[in-house]
Amino acid sequence: MPRRRKIYEGKAKVLFEGPEPGTIVQHFKDDVTAFNNQKHDIITGKGVLNNRISEYLMMRLGEVGIPTHFVRRLNMREQLVREVEIIPVEVVVRNVAAGSICKRFGLEEGSSLPRSIVEYYYKSDDLGDPLISEEHITAFGWASPAEIDDMLSLSLRINDFLTGLFLGIGLRLIDFKLEYGRLYQDDQVRVVLADEITPDGCRLWDTETNEIMDKDRFRRDLGGVAEAYQEVARRLGITPEAGQQDIKGPVTIQ
Ligand code: UDP
Repeated sequence: MPRRRKIYEGKAKVLFEGPEPGTIVQHFKDDVTAFNNQKHDIITGKGVLNNRISEYLMMRLGEVGIPTHFVRRLNMREQLVREVEIIPVEVVVRNVAAGSICKRFGLEEGSSLPRSIVEYYYKSDDLGDPLISEEHITAFGWASPAEIDDMLSLSLRINDFLTGLFLGIGLRLIDFKLEYGRLYQDDQVRVVLADEITPDGCRLWDTETNEIMDKDRFRRDLGGVAEAYQEVARRLGITPEAGQQDIKGPVTIQ
């Protein structure tokens, strides 16, 4: 195989130049980090699971009309995506209080929120991803008002869809982080969902037992990280061993 040009290496993924112009290969690593890189480990098999999980969720979102950068999975660890200009804003949607919002407002973890809350963070490792408002986004030119509208409405639609999808397999979607990009196509530019949707960037709790099935297992040294991700994949009806044609769809929890 010819050597590929590495474009960027992040904490959990490497991006390579894709086979055609305007495409990128996303390679999912087994690295797991938390607390802005202060905690780091390798969870064998995590990259394979996340590649599968993100493929599945992006495809399902595409089917219901959410524009995404996803093209197709290439192999166990890699997927082909459209090249986009990443908007440097992380969009967090919260359904239940957990993580940083508990500290910020003195809320009890697991307490319900009056409604789903959308927050924006500036994507900057150096600054530790500070919480920002729409004012900061427009004043500093990170995104236009129209792009903020698109990110907000897409994020709420994604939340509705994913909340239902996960409930059907016995998981509560507590909160999650999304990233968007600008896709330049035929003299037009539009906002599409980019990056990944995996248990690295979501909180998922078992509806029956409240067991944590996401990266908090790593953040809190609970162990069983790969097992939890594997269980999420199993309930989604996907397993790393199965081929594309073997994907059966979600396993409904009775
Ligand atoms: N999140 C993420 N990347 C970040 C920050 C947060 O994927 O850089 C996700 C995180 O996994 C959780 C949600 O966004 O599902 C909300 O995270 P929170 O603000 O509570 O921060 P945390 O407590 O995870 O540091």
